[in-house]
Amino acid sequence: MFNKELVRKFINRKTPFYYYDLELLDRTLESVKKYGQDKGYHIHFALKANNNDRILKNILAAGLGADCVSGKEIEKAIEIGFQPGQIAFAGVGKTDEEIEIGLEHDIFSFNCESVQEVELLNRLASVHNKTARIALRINPNIKAKTHKYIATGAEENKFGILVKELPELADKIRRFENLELTGIHFHIGSQIEDLNSFDALCNKINQLQSMFDEKEIRLQHINVGGGFGIDYSDPDENAIPDFKTYFQTFDKNLKLRDNQKLHFELGRSIVGQCGSLISKVLFIKEGYHTRFAVVDAGMTELIRPALYQAKHQINHLDNLNPSSDEILLYDVVGPICETSDTFRTGYPMPELRRGDLVAIRSCGAYGQVMSSDYNLRERAKVFYSDDFE
Ligand SMILES: *Cc1c(COP(=O)(O)O)cnc(C)c1O
Repeated sequence: MFNKELVRKFINRKTPFYYYDLELLDRTLESVKKYGQDKGYHIHFALKANNNDRILKNILAAGLGADCVSGKEIEKAIEIGFQPGQIAFAGVGKTDEEIEIGLEHDIFSFNCESVQEVELLNRLASVHNKTARIALRINPNIKAKTHKYIATGAEENKFGILVKELPELADKIRRFENLELTGIHFHIGSQIEDLNSFDALCNKINQLQSMFDEKEIRLQHINVGGGFGIDYSDPDENAIPDFKTYFQTFDKNLKLRDNQKLHFELGRSIVGQCGSLISKVLFIKEGYHTRFAVVDAGMTELIRPALYQAKHQINHLDNLNPSSDEILLYDVVGPICETSDTFRTGYPMPELRRGDLVAIRSCGAYGQVMSSDYNLRERAKVFYSDDFE
């Protein structure tokens, strides 16, 4: 990904900065098209993973829809050019104003997460003389194998409507004049690498569908959310997630009714591998037991390690002077006064020196979007592969 020529062009840029490989993004989108869209599936991109205009425009051009979790994300999606009919709106805590933004644009679906939200939506839709299409986000009680902070489908999680609430709620919606129940929605977590979790989800959905059949409620769509994981340990070997197997899991296990459409909301798996955070080594220093490489990027630019104990691969960009062959162990840390501001511990790398550039890999999803200006730090700049052509 980082040839010598490219690294030479990095040298005079102010670090840290985000670098996005648009060519890899496009190849990833081609794979989504081949194994997903071409099979008739509707894929919405989860804007919360990355909301850069350049990235969103490529995703729009590839024919994906949008999955939004705030009013501002709906407005952003529309500004980029996504059709309202391609926009799903999720979130456990939508405000009245955000719901009104969705109503105003007549979006594809409000994915509702509680009985109260459904009632509020009916009331607001009635005030604005609209009919809102809704999908019920159901908590399927499935524990996805992932970090506990990003598992969302288990009973104890705040997300979704309980299965036992469904029959009564479905009857209630039938009586609401300003709502149309068009689908059911699930999202069991993020960075899920074990596809068995999705098998389990399909089985659960098959069971739930019978309940709706019994009530003679015809669901136009099933939305299985996102959550497909990427390979953080080897981003070069697995630059494009195995979408073929992922989509096949649903094709094999999910029993769709006639004309029922299957929707996905993918974030990380689409943009995760195309982004890197480029940072410079400020200092090397000895600790009591370890050797620290203090770099100029921190949790302000990439919070995933601090927040989810995420481990990103770090490459030495052999730029300024040829490094020795010696491999040393480093704790690669940021400058912020938080011990969790640590990217890797005991991490083997070629000898690092002050001024060397490193690339923290697989930062395209939940990287830049989660950055902050804590410590009054400047926001990192962004460059795209074609800026360097
Ligand atoms: C975050 C989120 C997604 C995207 O998740 P990824 O793990 O990035 O694919 C999809 N749907 C909903 C409702 C979400 O909250």
